[in-house]
Amino acid sequence: RTVYVNGDYLPETDAKISIFDRGFLMADGVYEVTSVLDGKLIDFDGHVARLERSLAELEMASPVTSEDLLEIHRALVARNGIEEGMVYLQITRGAPADRDFVFPDPDETPSSLVVFTQNKPGLADNPAAKKGMRVISIDDMRWGRRDIKTVQLLYPSMGKMMAKKAGADDAWMVQDGFVTEGTSNNAYIVKGGKIITRARSNDILHGITRAAVLRFAAEAQMEVEERNFTIAEAREADEAFITSASTFVMPVVEIDGVKLGDGTPGRVAPRLREIYLEESRKAAI
Ligand code: PLP
Repeated sequence: RTVYVNGDYLPETDAKISIFDRGFLMADGVYEVTSVLDGKLIDFDGHVARLERSLAELEMASPVTSEDLLEIHRALVARNGIEEGMVYLQITRGAPADRDFVFPDPDETPSSLVVFTQNKPGLADNPAAKKGMRVISIDDMRWGRRDIKTVQLLYPSMGKMMAKKAGADDAWMVQDGFVTEGTSNNAYIVKGGKIITRARSNDILHGITRAAVLRFAAEAQMEVEERNFTIAEAREADEAFITSASTFVMPVVEIDGVKLGDGTPGRVAPRLREIYLEESRKAAI
């Protein structure tokens, strides 16, 4: 596989980053994941806009322009022959001469950019979407700026491990009694045809897929309510689902061992998945 590191396209085995890079030492960095369908980028402009916001919130500069990012993404997709899969991009605050908590001067320490692809044939036609996923609920123990897409993914990894050990597929995190989001996705329930999802704030990542799905739902005259919901309410919902760049829309059929409805994906989530795939494919670049 060819990867991109700070200006160079290299075989992955030749790619190197300094051990002093603050991404490595302090998880001081941000990332984006963009999916690829039909060899094209899905929701790319949204991902770049969020990347710019994450960087600004952390007073970090991108080493390249958004036009360069598009070119790098396209070059890697082409070189690696990706028809369906993902492009992962990460910008970290670079490698100052010494480890220090204070941010280094960006003129002396340029940020690092790493981009690589992941080949995932069958991403759109994922059999998991027919079956639906099982989630457990766990405490949300992450920091207070989840709206910034940082590479500090230790707690979400622990959450996925808790889910795995419990025989489930993922975990929904709960703060002050209300669901925030999944470990790597936004969370929704459906009751009486109405789609309910937590409103945007610093408590959740502002999902790019979320924004698109809510727009498509409104266009399809589906009712959407952005408000908090509890796990108790979710267990009594007709349906539930998640959204993310790599899963699109994925039905949730079980929460903490309790089946939702008849334990099958239902109507709303599969319909939204279909609309999302169709519309985002048309708009792919
Ligand atoms: N919430 C969290 C915590 C995530 O990590 C992600 C994606 O990785 C999402 C939500 C979904 O965001 P997007 O739709 O932009 O992929």
